[in-house]
Amino acid sequence: RALRDAASAAPYEFIEILVNEEQYGGGGIFNFQATAAADTGFAEYVFVHEFGHHFAGLADEYYTSDVAYETGAAYHVEPWEPNVTALHDPQRVKWGDLIDADTPLPTPWDKEAFENGSVAAQQKRRGLREDGAAESAMDRLFTEQMDRETALLGGMLHAGKIGAFQGASYEPTGLYRSEVDCIMFTRNPVGFCRVCRRAIENVIDQYTGRP
Ligand SMILES: [Zn+2]
Repeated sequence: RALRDAASAAPYEFIEILVNEEQYGGGGIFNFQATAAADTGFAEYVFVHEFGHHFAGLADEYYTSDVAYETGAAYHVEPWEPNVTALHDPQRVKWGDLIDADTPLPTPWDKEAFENGSVAAQQKRRGLREDGAAESAMDRLFTEQMDRETALLGGMLHAGKIGAFQGASYEPTGLYRSEVDCIMFTRNPVGFCRVCRRAIENVIDQYTGRP
């Protein structure tokens, strides 16, 4: 209620809360609000990523982080979010109209190379946290990781193609994302994948009345 009272000072549809906080973090809830720590080196990334959750109901596409949501289930129901699929029927993927006829489904990518680098970076991150390292050290680690992963993913065979890449929404298997990289997948400066972009545009169209 206090949040709505404060927000009502101006006409609004969406709320982004910037927190005076140096420790990296943020969150976003569809149709409610998004938050981002404003004083980290990756504040802009966090703002845009969390906005994707809040504004367009986008799912996290990452699955190698330490988050505790993964179910480990062998069977996944088709997620409601527009940017993740369980790929039960490769002939009818929800973003199938964007997939080139010659792109294989599932779409191969060098998952192992990505995961090895990701796990190593997370071990370093935990070490820095345990040592009480400064946020600037964390930012440096994230920057190194970003540079390495941007090159690794961008150099893969189907980079830039739309398909179904295994590993999404906290699940290393059974759930798929539409492109090898996206701001919902990594902190890399690649923007939203085309499926995420279309989901965002659909919400904008609902507000602007474009048919
Ligand atoms: Zn995406």
